[in-house]
Amino acid sequence: MPIDWISVQEKWLRAWEDAKIFESNPNDNRAKYFITVAYPYPNSPQHIGHGRTYTLADVHARYMRMRGYNVLFPMGFHYTGTPILAMSKRIAENDRDIIEAFINIYGVKPEYIEAFKEPINIARYFHREIKQGMREMGYSIDWRREFTTIDPVYKKFITWQFNKLKAKGLIVQGSHPVGWCPKDHSPVSQHDTLGDVEPEFVEYLLIKFHYNGYILPIATLRAETIFGVTNLWVNPEGDYVIADVNDEQWIVSKVCAEKLIHLNKKVRIKQELKGVELIGKTVVAPLIDISIPILPAEFVDPSNGTGIVMSVPAHAPYDYQALDDLKNGRVMQEFIDKHNLHTLIQGIKPIVIIRSEYHHNYTNSIPAHEVIRKYNIASQRDTRLKEATEELYSHEFYKGVMLDNTMEYANLSVKDARDKVKQDLISRHMADTMIELANKVRCRCGSECMVKILTDQWFINYSNKEWKDLAYRCLDKMSVMPEDIRQEFKYVISWLKERACARRSGLGTNLPWDKDWIIESLSDSVIYMAYYIIAKYVNSSLINEENVNDEFFDYVFLGVGSGDDVASKCKIDKELLESIRQEFLYYYPLDSRHSGRDLVPNHLTFFIFNHVALFPEQLWPKQIVVNGSVLMDGKKMSKSLGNIVPLRKAIAEHGSDAIRASLLISAELLQDADFTLDMLKSIKERVERIYNTCVQLSSLSTDTIGRYSNNNTNSMQQEDLWLLSRLNYVIKDVTDAMDKLRVREALNNILYIMEQDLQWYLKRARSKNRSDEDIAMVMRLFLDARVRMLAPFMPFISEEMWSILHNNKGGFVSLAEWPKADDSMINLIAYEGESLIRNTLNDIMNIVKVTKTKPEKVIIYTAEEWKWSTYLNILGLVTKGITNYTDIIRSILTDEHHTNRIKENMSMVKKMIDSILSDTPASRIRKLSIGMLDEVSILKDAKGLLEQELHASILVSKEDEYSKKKGALPYKPAIYLE
Ligand SMILES: [Zn+2]
Repeated sequence: MPIDWISVQEKWLRAWEDAKIFESNPNDNRAKYFITVAYPYPNSPQHIGHGRTYTLADVHARYMRMRGYNVLFPMGFHYTGTPILAMSKRIAENDRDIIEAFINIYGVKPEYIEAFKEPINIARYFHREIKQGMREMGYSIDWRREFTTIDPVYKKFITWQFNKLKAKGLIVQGSHPVGWCPKDHSPVSQHDTLGDVEPEFVEYLLIKFHYNGYILPIATLRAETIFGVTNLWVNPEGDYVIADVNDEQWIVSKVCAEKLIHLNKKVRIKQELKGVELIGKTVVAPLIDISIPILPAEFVDPSNGTGIVMSVPAHAPYDYQALDDLKNGRVMQEFIDKHNLHTLIQGIKPIVIIRSEYHHNYTNSIPAHEVIRKYNIASQRDTRLKEATEELYSHEFYKGVMLDNTMEYANLSVKDARDKVKQDLISRHMADTMIELANKVRCRCGSECMVKILTDQWFINYSNKEWKDLAYRCLDKMSVMPEDIRQEFKYVISWLKERACARRSGLGTNLPWDKDWIIESLSDSVIYMAYYIIAKYVNSSLINEENVNDEFFDYVFLGVGSGDDVASKCKIDKELLESIRQEFLYYYPLDSRHSGRDLVPNHLTFFIFNHVALFPEQLWPKQIVVNGSVLMDGKKMSKSLGNIVPLRKAIAEHGSDAIRASLLISAELLQDADFTLDMLKSIKERVERIYNTCVQLSSLSTDTIGRYSNNNTNSMQQEDLWLLSRLNYVIKDVTDAMDKLRVREALNNILYIMEQDLQWYLKRARSKNRSDEDIAMVMRLFLDARVRMLAPFMPFISEEMWSILHNNKGGFVSLAEWPKADDSMINLIAYEGESLIRNTLNDIMNIVKVTKTKPEKVIIYTAEEWKWSTYLNILGLVTKGITNYTDIIRSILTDEHHTNRIKENMSMVKKMIDSILSDTPASRIRKLSIGMLDEVSILKDAKGLLEQELHASILVSKEDEYSKKKGALPYKPAIYLE
């Protein structure tokens, strides 16, 4: 019977909401578990990819609820900042891409588009849309605690946060570099940029070369290579300028001049020129005082650095290759002819200045040439030049030593020489510095971003040493899932610096002491988990913005002040104030924070920082869970590929249960999940099978079931014991997996491994002609646990199956207890017995296949006693760590009863040893603790099954003294076909 997924979904969504089962209130008799996930920006509808993080958090919440915790899982909406503002601007500018995507992909009604020019309308619309999607997805959210970041009380809360940070000296005014949008005149960080790119900075040294009273600065990270410079490179097609820069006359690219302005240099452009005008000129290198020519190079990008590049062909593979290409006429031939540069170019020789494995004193090898040869590179357009460069740079950095031709820096390590040359050049005014973006960053408005030194701006001072130490301390105590990601957090804490915390525009909270600025979105979203406690009281109209101020939050969150005073100042009941405080203390600290991996370098780390700054140690967050992203059929989702699936559209088509499971089954936490319709269909088929079994079971009269409800294992058959044993193994495995949020492993167990077990069980039971009633009790135990374990993943259909299994009398499976593994049900003999049957069946089938016979009779001989005794003997030795043949054999020969037999059957004994050594340690221990397995009765029990599968009669017997054929080993009976 096919399932009507959508109506099942609607039925149970209504039932949960009517019964309010996901509302959580403080309860001193129950342990709480507070779990949150990064709230969404409602600036566009959600697609399937968004579903993963939220679904994972919900599965976690549902699991912990079934483990008996009073789980609080709330949700808010992030209206602050550029994500929403930029979207409305793009619509106001009539951006067809966006508008068409909204209408055609996401089904937004065209008449709404006009209203979207107002940011708040976008936020409200998609807030509703996303919330509806979350309900349909079955997220077990306590919606009474919903809020937006522009709610008046929330703004008061953020005001409190910022006043607190400022009072602690963690907000500073100063000049620092920020990523900057020149169009919006506003700082940018990850959530302000297209593709969510966090701007990264790199500080170059600008070494000043001289030409005719002008300075040509070149940007480099390798100051020490000045000793190997042979020429400069300039792009003949590039736009350059002569400009007054502070008190000097510089020649730099036009783009560079603009960047210098943002870096607060006094720049006045006096003349524009083309790169070609500089070619062939001679410049003087500082420090070494040597004249070198300027040569043309197409690879020079005027928008990088100053647009002028220092060439060090002995140590920079790019330079070496470019020079070689010029010398050998591979590039720019016409240009060189026209400008008569041949002699100049041919005269340039690489100057080696560093000793390393690529250059020893006694050879003439040129390091850049060596590495180019190693990579077999033949042109400057070869992309492997990048790898070659990285290899040589890092090798020389760690192992290189400066040669004698480097003045007083000779014999220094490259590492030390680099710092020293840099300092000396700067102190002698031969160099300056310049901060650049290390990566390409575009603002959400589409403009290319640059670095700006913001002066007199407000920064959160994440470089504060004591603050960093507290953050490390919190991280050390915290659980991080998966554990591999902890290093990444450490790294982020180490490099985080002053961070601009306000913007000129957007929705949000004004900086309390400078109302021209609005607190930006990655700063007003770091401690809001605490606000979920307040939101419940706001939403039920028990408090409003008139009742809250800094003293209120001080009291509720920190216990500062007297309750009476605060209550009277805030004009609220003392009792109400106390209950808010108590509720906060009940739920805090936060037990688990979920988010995508992209938020590690910002949000998640800020979350740690701000908690440790504002809250006492006992209220610091306890766990962070990070997950990877979602691919669609193995490809990244993108508009251009047309493979974006809106979440609500997918729900309407497939139902949310299958989407939830599909999002989680293909990957563990950090891996990218691959969403495919094939997987979704296969999951549905599996679950349909489980559902049908529930329906069949429910049709058996309760009387029949009652007869077996004593759970009397004496009346059980071998396969019953086996299935229940397997069930308890799986419960253990799934519980372990869930504790570590290895959801893929858990789901795989529930959907696939349990299905294999069940199919084997049914095969066994049916081959013995057992009736449905006869197996109903075991089936019921099995299904009951399976449905419980499936419930966090596929909650709607699990409720349906649960109600069928329990005739509507079982309550909600969402609130049912997670199954506990019962060790007493683990039956090693049953476990090994069924394996024996399966293996024997497979062996026989293989023999039949290989010999191409149709046997009428199959005789199975099991191993005789002395083999068992020897086998167990060896097993004991191996378990103790004795794994060497000679040692094993010497030891077993001391067994007087069997010495002769062992000697007579040495090759068989060796086979035994081999099979034991190739076994898993767990299996060895299991077999050792069982001792001798009664293989004859086990195989006889499966006689029906074997006969049915093989269409032959089966004879099972133990080898004995009189058998002529003696090929059986323990766990490996001998098989004869007749
Ligand atoms: Zn912009």
